[in-house]
Amino acid sequence: MSVPKTQKAQVCTSLRVDPIYRTDFPVPEPKPHELLVHVLFSGVCHSDVSIVTGDIPMADYIPLPVILGHEGAGIVAKIGENVKGFKEGDRVGIMMTLESCFECESCKSANEHYCDKLKLAAIHSHGTFQEYAVVSAAHAHKLPDGIDLAKAAPLHCAGVTVYRALKQSGVRAGEIIAISGAAGGLGSFAIQFAKAMGMQVLAIDVGTIKEEHCKKLGADYFVDACNSELVKHVTEITKGGPHGMINVATATKPIEDAMLYVRKRGTIVAVGLPKNPNFTANSYVLVQRAITLKGSFIGNRKDMDEVIEFFARGLIDVPIEVHGLSELPKLLKKLQKNEVQGRLVVDTSK
Ligand SMILES: [Zn+2]
Ligand SMILES: [Zn+2]
Repeated sequence: MSVPKTQKAQVCTSLRVDPIYRTDFPVPEPKPHELLVHVLFSGVCHSDVSIVTGDIPMADYIPLPVILGHEGAGIVAKIGENVKGFKEGDRVGIMMTLESCFECESCKSANEHYCDKLKLAAIHSHGTFQEYAVVSAAHAHKLPDGIDLAKAAPLHCAGVTVYRALKQSGVRAGEIIAISGAAGGLGSFAIQFAKAMGMQVLAIDVGTIKEEHCKKLGADYFVDACNSELVKHVTEITKGGPHGMINVATATKPIEDAMLYVRKRGTIVAVGLPKNPNFTANSYVLVQRAITLKGSFIGNRKDMDEVIEFFARGLIDVPIEVHGLSELPKLLKKLQKNEVQGRLVVDTSK
């Protein structure tokens, strides 16, 4: 496969300003353990917005310039000399995890996404808003023939993150999971994965357009987040509260609400990363209702494989909007205003 010397890329040279679209950015060379992937499509995640706007604590530590994007799908263009098991032309996906040590305690317990030496796309290395990206072969995921790469791209952050969080909720088939921020990118995937896993879904978001979107994706119930009697309403609909809740909204009030409405012995999983991350918890409520509060971040490689299997079986079909890579700044603004249902995806060739 012939690989050009330069490529199209969206490059962040400083925070709090739009990334710069370049058509002459150097194509990286894979190290011995890496693959060079011709990224065809990349999903646009709310974390990309949070980094550009400097709204997450780690944003100020990111070495600049940096290329954001952490959910890519494409084909292997070049193979590092020590890599086995891949050939040029293989279809692969790229997650936020680009590299882990496989030696630390987390890695040894299949929690490589919490590795002490974790290398993340867009934080420690260039991400997928470029035509050619490098990833360690151990963290590249083979994608089956015939699947739509544009639709597969967002599975690599949105999909795997919510799939893992749903597992962490401990909610079983037949039980009810509440999803706060249900109409956004992560929420849309969460509705469909939860349904595919046999759960009943109570979607929480704002407004009738989002209600319609959630119901179209399979949500059984919808409650408007602006409802002043949200806790009462959720408790009534679910006859005693949902068995678990995942918060993919970039706000903490949903976590505080969930401590009041989740069923006794229910689990609340924090996933969204809000600008103001602090919230209040009442010890009495936690103790007397035996509530579990936990956090969850992306997923491991096995979770990713399972996500691809759900998708390949036709169980996940979240609507996407495909735009050119050159339009990225406009797309980030749209996401920032919460104007997106489903997922935005960029085509790196345009
Ligand atoms: Zn993401
Ligand atoms: Zn490690």
